[in-house]
Amino acid sequence: MQHLPIVCAGEYDDDKPLAVFAVVADAERYATLYNLERGYGLEDGDRARVEHLPAYPAGDPGMSGHEITIRGAHWSCTCGRADWGGSEQDSREQAARHIAHWIPAAEQVALPA
Ligand SMILES: [Zn+2]
Repeated sequence: MQHLPIVCAGEYDDDKPLAVFAVVADAERYATLYNLERGYGLEDGDRARVEHLPAYPAGDPGMSGHEITIRGAHWSCTCGRADWGGSEQDSREQAARHIAHWIPAAEQVALPA
């Protein structure tokens, strides 16, 4: 998995994505020009900004975006999912259930100790 820069306009997470870029510098330049063109300053809610989206190569329907970390009763995944299991055992079971939806059992590696 890699992350590609995108430019979004607006203040909120679900605001409109405008474009996807291969290189962060281009995305930042695009956002700057977009804001300049419209006269948007730092305080404008509609201004464009750079965010990052996971990007997967052909043949990878999101599988490579899941790496689990377990810290006691808490687990987290590189996809952003995280939860509190109550105990380390329950935390491991929750993490295993999460990853089972993404990665075929035959390809799963053991959860980290
Ligand atoms: Zn995940």
